[in-house]
Amino acid sequence: MIATPSILLLEASSVCQLACPSCPTAEGKIDEAVGRGFLKFDYFKQLVDTNPDISCIELSNWGEIFLNPDLPQIMEYAYKRGVKLKAENGVNLNTAKKEALEAAVKYRFRYLNCSIDGATQEVYETYRKRGKLENVLENIRTINAFKKLYNSPFPELQWQFIMHGHNEHEILVAKKLAEELNMRFFLKLQWGDMYGEAVSPVRDREFIRSVQANQVADRQEFAEKFNRDYIQPCVQLWQTPQVNFDGKLLGCCINHWSDFGVVNGADVHDAINNDKMAYARDMLMGKVEAKNDIPCTSCSIYKQKLASGRWMSTADAYENLYVAPKLLGSARTYNIMVNKLMTAKNQRFLKRIRSKFDRLVH
Ligand code: SF4
Repeated sequence: MIATPSILLLEASSVCQLACPSCPTAEGKIDEAVGRGFLKFDYFKQLVDTNPDISCIELSNWGEIFLNPDLPQIMEYAYKRGVKLKAENGVNLNTAKKEALEAAVKYRFRYLNCSIDGATQEVYETYRKRGKLENVLENIRTINAFKKLYNSPFPELQWQFIMHGHNEHEILVAKKLAEELNMRFFLKLQWGDMYGEAVSPVRDREFIRSVQANQVADRQEFAEKFNRDYIQPCVQLWQTPQVNFDGKLLGCCINHWSDFGVVNGADVHDAINNDKMAYARDMLMGKVEAKNDIPCTSCSIYKQKLASGRWMSTADAYENLYVAPKLLGSARTYNIMVNKLMTAKNQRFLKRIRSKFDRLVH
């Protein structure tokens, strides 16, 4: 039995105005299981009221949260109820009403991870198709102006730059721009073939290695070098389950094949302990065979686990369930931090801590 998590992933919008290549949203792959729509204020309120253990909600996943007309009302209610909101997965920030940007500052929205993969319009729109870089930068300046007006550090802003072959030459210029805009700068390895064919793989692999502490050029190299997956979305089935805008339980942020049922009456505890979720958790630990009605069966991450035999361990689930939230607020932040720390030298140290932790939880 899994306890109600303190952090929930709740999709505020599965609608997006951009058309990024290889994105399942742009390609219409999410239409059947996820669908297109916005989180309604009434459902958000019901969910917050029914689950007092939830103290933090991540709103971003398949779409752009700033397109949701109820967003300011959602922010205000969360603030009044002491529930922190964040968009760590990412926002494109191309289209945002001033009222929504002001609400983000006024109601202390915690964190906005802005996906900006270029420093010039030409390079930016190569991947962020239909996007306008100047709109994004203007919206960031507006947020900064409101932060000054309200004398608030929130929302914290991060410039996330996904590295591709077509944009790698703009990394250093983008970094400088991010500094000027008071934003943290984060270099992310691209998806590779996670959702199909890799788009614009990096070209200057030595350069890509040189700009990151972990010194890897892609996710495969990361996994081989550190014997650890670059992203670990499966832990969300234990720690931060993903709920769709319409109440369907999707389990994790990658699943767009089918659902795990519905969060009936907005009761998260019952939903995450249903038979399908319990079976999927056992599947990810390699304890039971794959079954067609479990979404993970269609996922390339599960297939990799099956091929490599690198299953989720109890320590994986517990590390992310208890250690990560206490240290850094969420498994995603924790994972990003560990990946940043991952260097050949630190790996030995992290391994020692990890094996001590393994012994502790067994
Ligand atoms: S295997 Fe895929 S669908 Fe299943 S939890 Fe992991 S990332 Fe999500």
